[in-house]
Amino acid sequence: MEQAIALYRPEEYAFPVDGLIFEYDDLAYGRSLGATGHHENRLMALKWADTLYETVFRSLEVATTRTGMVSLTGVFDDVEIDGTTVNHAYLHNLDIFKQLALGPGDKISVYKANMIIPQIAENHTKSGSCPIPIVCPCCGEMLMIHKSPGGTQQLYCENPDCPARLVRKFVHFCSKTRMEIEGLAEQTLETFVQRGWVKNFGDLYELERHKTDIVACHGFGEKSFARLQKAIDKRRTCTLNQFIAALGIPEVGRHAGRILNRHFGGSWNAFEQAIRDGYDFTQLEDFGKVMNDNIYTWYNNAEEAVLWRPALNHITFLKEDTVMSENTNNPFAGKIVVATGKLENYTRDGIQMKLLSLGAKPASSVSKKTDYVIAGEKAGSKLTKAQDLGITILTEQQFEDMLAGVEA
Ligand SMILES: [Zn+2]
Repeated sequence: MEQAIALYRPEEYAFPVDGLIFEYDDLAYGRSLGATGHHENRLMALKWADTLYETVFRSLEVATTRTGMVSLTGVFDDVEIDGTTVNHAYLHNLDIFKQLALGPGDKISVYKANMIIPQIAENHTKSGSCPIPIVCPCCGEMLMIHKSPGGTQQLYCENPDCPARLVRKFVHFCSKTRMEIEGLAEQTLETFVQRGWVKNFGDLYELERHKTDIVACHGFGEKSFARLQKAIDKRRTCTLNQFIAALGIPEVGRHAGRILNRHFGGSWNAFEQAIRDGYDFTQLEDFGKVMNDNIYTWYNNAEEAVLWRPALNHITFLKEDTVMSENTNNPFAGKIVVATGKLENYTRDGIQMKLLSLGAKPASSVSKKTDYVIAGEKAGSKLTKAQDLGITILTEQQFEDMLAGVEA
């Protein structure tokens, strides 16, 4: 076999090759060998040792992530690996950083793991002159060392008000694969957070209040503000899976979001009620104990709640398979309807679903375009605004009566 392997020269291929797979030339015999849960017994894989490249370590980049975990990245002189220039490598935990004992000017070997991810393999001079970061690069608070269940150490900034954590959380919330709010780049969000215009996810839906200041911002103008407003308005409706994935619960991402969406029928209230009832999420497909615990830790974290709960006042959850109703034979079809206050027969989600089923367009704020306002108990400012604008206001009973008139 060694001779066979020697015939292959990975460096001569036009594309990166990291190994070989051997297979029996007798297919029937090969298949008869069966398979384990994870590979077929007729196959054997070999990987070439990673090629190491020498370079010089220059500095350590320290950044606080949205979970408060502080990421460490080694920066070194440019080195060409597999046709790309590489000059930094992420250090996965504090232990790796300690073992490498890095310092500016150290001679190091780097490689690309699986031919993609740059890694520092070894430090040949181990000067150790790069100290372990002590304070958060963003807020200046002392950092803490957390030990993972697997025994590895990570640096954390525990300051709940650390702007880095907050900005990252907003970046995550708005990102393309989450709530998908276009036009809110990291830099924009950084400005909004630093200026105090957004303190929680709900504030994103009330940017109008800071319009004058935002429009005056460098690089912003009436046009981009209008564009941003439009992108945000689009996300006054979303699916449960989108919202859950956007919340940034550790380990609970898009896949988990879809499973929860299916299980709870797209209803936020059902999901929240399950948490309150102590539901065991490990019953769900692909949900492990860590994810289950993370949901509870997140839900019971008061600081987190301050961040996400206000968004619920602005969002209507759509069932993923919701098709706009064909039902147009009622007074609400095609009308913009705002429901406000506490209703007797509907939950917040419930009334929105009812309106959608009638072919109406549920909205969360009252404007001149609003056709009807359904006002429940303690309706508050939306009701006052509707009265000022002269919009037709219905009690829940009147709403039901109008429907009964049609359905009868
Ligand atoms: Zn910090």
